[in-house]
Amino acid sequence: MLKLIILGSSNAIPDEHHENTHMLLVGERRAVLIDCASNPIVRLQRAGVEFDALTDLILTHFHPDHVSGVPLLLMDMWLMGRSHPLNIYGLHHTLDRIEDLMRFYAWSEWPNFFPVVFHRLPANEKATVLECEEFRVFSSPVRHLIPTIGLRLELLWNKKVVVYSCDTEPCSQLVRLAAGADVLIHEAAGGALGHTSAAEAGEIARQAEVGELYLIHYPTGRYASDDLVAEAKRYFQGPVRLAEDFMQLDFEHKAITRHPDSHYLRPFWEEDDELSLSK
Ligand SMILES: [Zn+2]
Repeated sequence: MLKLIILGSSNAIPDEHHENTHMLLVGERRAVLIDCASNPIVRLQRAGVEFDALTDLILTHFHPDHVSGVPLLLMDMWLMGRSHPLNIYGLHHTLDRIEDLMRFYAWSEWPNFFPVVFHRLPANEKATVLECEEFRVFSSPVRHLIPTIGLRLELLWNKKVVVYSCDTEPCSQLVRLAAGADVLIHEAAGGALGHTSAAEAGEIARQAEVGELYLIHYPTGRYASDDLVAEAKRYFQGPVRLAEDFMQLDFEHKAITRHPDSHYLRPFWEEDDELSLSK
């Protein structure tokens, strides 16, 4: 069992069907939460994941729609009697602020609080975030309004690669991080400063030669745009889909369990090729 569950797919302004973008990589022994928006307890319950099973939390950057749930996550874990450590990974910029935030909540005075281990990541391309028997996770700095990382998840037993852009303008670092990935989950918040449009996400997918593209972190509710998938397909020939809340990429059965259309994953994985993006 190895699956990636989309817990939220909206940009910074969620609606009743789309929470802020965050996701969960679930393996046999590790469960890695990627960003922590809103109320993680409720989302994890609804995804059918045991709350205490979380072993790792990766924070991509310190914007509220990506980290605002952290104090509540930590407090609720504590109230539910967690005793084993939680690893939290992020850039110095991110983790310094998380520690400041928790200081405002006086977390050092919470009795019998479980260990939280901070792992500060270098702002290098393809820096190792974590490695275990089932997968490896790498990060690269991307181009957003504040220091931010994109993530590359390499699933070891089946050699599948999933890349998540996080919030970014189109950038060559991301093309390199995503090179040859089976799945690219790319933000499509729009062409504003620090973000990417669906068309640009399609162009990134084409340049990185990925197997398929999922658009995420897109405008929802009354801000929803027209057909983002069609926009991306103008630039990328492979399958393009909208990521939706609670969509699940299942790497055991090689199928998406929530959506009926079949889910194609490329049969083999190739090492990174150097690709350039002129933008
Ligand atoms: Zn952001």
